[in-house]
Amino acid sequence: MNPLTRVDVLILGAGMSGLAMATGLLRAGRRDFVVVEQSTGLGGTWWDNRYPGAAVDVPAPLYSFSFAPNPRWSRRFASAAEILAYQQQLAREHGLQAHLQLGRRVVEARFDEARGRWQIVLDDGSGFDARAFVCSTGPLSVPRWPAIEGLHSFAGPCLHTARWDARLPLAGRRVGVIGTGSTAAQLVPELVRQGAQLTVFQRTPNWVLPKLDRRYGTIDRLLYRVPGWNRAVRLTWAAGSELFRRGFEPGSGAQRRLLALAALHLRRQVADATLRERLRPPYPIGCKRIIFSNEWLRTLASPAVALVSEALERVTPEGVATADGRTHALDVLVCATGFDVEHALATPIVGRAGQPLQQAWRDGPEAHFGSSVAGFPNLFLMLGPNTATGHTSTLLFIEPQVDFVLRSLAELERRGLAWLDVRPGVQDSFNTELQARLANSVWMQCRSWYRAASGRNVAIWPGYTPEFRRRLAALDFSGYEFG
Ligand code: NAP
Repeated sequence: MNPLTRVDVLILGAGMSGLAMATGLLRAGRRDFVVVEQSTGLGGTWWDNRYPGAAVDVPAPLYSFSFAPNPRWSRRFASAAEILAYQQQLAREHGLQAHLQLGRRVVEARFDEARGRWQIVLDDGSGFDARAFVCSTGPLSVPRWPAIEGLHSFAGPCLHTARWDARLPLAGRRVGVIGTGSTAAQLVPELVRQGAQLTVFQRTPNWVLPKLDRRYGTIDRLLYRVPGWNRAVRLTWAAGSELFRRGFEPGSGAQRRLLALAALHLRRQVADATLRERLRPPYPIGCKRIIFSNEWLRTLASPAVALVSEALERVTPEGVATADGRTHALDVLVCATGFDVEHALATPIVGRAGQPLQQAWRDGPEAHFGSSVAGFPNLFLMLGPNTATGHTSTLLFIEPQVDFVLRSLAELERRGLAWLDVRPGVQDSFNTELQARLANSVWMQCRSWYRAASGRNVAIWPGYTPEFRRRLAALDFSGYEFG
C-alpha cells in the first residue's frame, strides 16, 4: 500500500451534503480537506438519477442552500439537469474542484486508536490519513433491485432508474415499469410522451397531491434582485412545509383536509370509478412519501398505459408473469424500485476496538441526531439515520449538520484533543426517545423505505424541522467522550 496522504478532513461523497460540507469548511477558513467521490462527476443523487422526467418535488427556493441562492431557476420544481447545473456552479464559485477527487472509491476506513486518526484506503491502493471523516453518501444511493425470481433472465434491457441508459431507444417499444413511487410517477408520463407503450406493475398505490408548479419569468427575476426577497420566499416555503406537515398527525383536521384534497385530485384525474379504487392507497396519507404530480394519475388512466396490480410471480426472457396466470410481453424492463436505505453506507468502516459499522448497525442504522455514531470517533454522518422527512427539503437538515461538524472541529482544537465520540448511553436514550415518538406515528402504518427489514423506522425525523435545528445547535458535547 502507498503511504497515506495526511489531510484534516476527508469527505466521502460529492452530492448536496458533501458539497455543503466542503463549502462550510472553506467559509470557516479550513482549506485542508479532500472530497472523494466514486462517480466520475459531482452531484450525488442528481448525477445518478437521470431517468427521463427526473426533478425535485421540493420548491427550488428551498432546494438551494441559504448561503447560495440561485437566481437562475427556470421553474418552481427544478429538473435534475438544472439541479446538477446548480451544484456545478456551486463547486465553481467556491473553487471546490481543487479538493475533488472523482472516480475514486473508498474501500475501507479504519479508526487508528493509537493515533486518533482515520486511515482511509482507496481502490487504487492510495489513501488518506484524516483527523475527521465525513460520510455524505446519502440515504438514497444504493439502488434496490426487486426480489423477483428470474429478474436477470429477461432477454431485453433491464435497468434501474438510478442507473439510466439514455441511449436506449424507447419510442414504440413495450416498456414494463415495476414500482409506483415518486420515481415511477415522474418517469412514466415522460416515457409515454416519448412514444413508449407502458405496462406499470403496482404493488401498492400511493397518495398523490397536485404539484403547484409554475415557470419563473421576468418578474420573478426582477423581484429576485430586491434585497431580502429570496430569503423571504425561502422562509415562506419553509414555514408552509411545516404547516403541511401537520397533515401527518393522525386524526387531525389537517390530515382530513389532505385526504380530501387527495380524493378530489384522484376524482379529477381518473374518470373510471373501478380504476380509482385500484389507485386508492390502503394506508394513511403521509405513511409513504406523498407523490406530487399533475400527470401521474391521468397518465395511468390513459390508453397508453396498462396498469397491472396482480402480484409478480416471476420474470421470464419474454416479460413478466403475474399471479393471474398472464405473461406481459415486454421489450424493456425498468425497475423503479427505490433504494436500500438500511445498507446505504456500504463502505467498510471500522471504529474503536476494531468494531465494523455494519456490526454496530446489525439491527439497522442508528445514530445521534443522524450525525455521530458511538464507537466511531470523529466520524460525522450527513443525512444519517432518522434525518429524513416527507414534507420539506433535506437541505434544511444538511445545513445544521455542517454547522455541527464545524463546531466539533473547533471544540477539539479548543480542548487540544484529537477526537470526540458520543457516549453509547446518550445515543441509546436519544434513539429510545425517537422510536417512542415514532411508535404511533403515521410512518409506522405501512411498508416503506423509511423502515428497516425489522420494521424499525430508520429514516424519519419524528418532529418538525426547527426542533432538529434547535436541538443540534444546542448540543454542548456533555454527552461526548474526548480523547
Ligand atoms: P420507493 O418510493 O421506495 O418506491 C419503490 C416502488 O417499487 C414502490 O412502489 C414499491 O412497492 C415497488 N417495489 C419495490 N420492490 C418491489 C417488488 N419486489 N415487487 C413489486 N413492487 C416493488 O422508490 P422511489 O420511487 O425511487 O422513491 C424513493 C424516494 O426517492 C422517494 O420517496 C423520494 O424521497 C425520493 N425521490 C424524490 C424525487 C423528487 O421528486 N425529489 C423523485 C424520485 C424519488 P411498495 O410500495 O409496495 O413497497
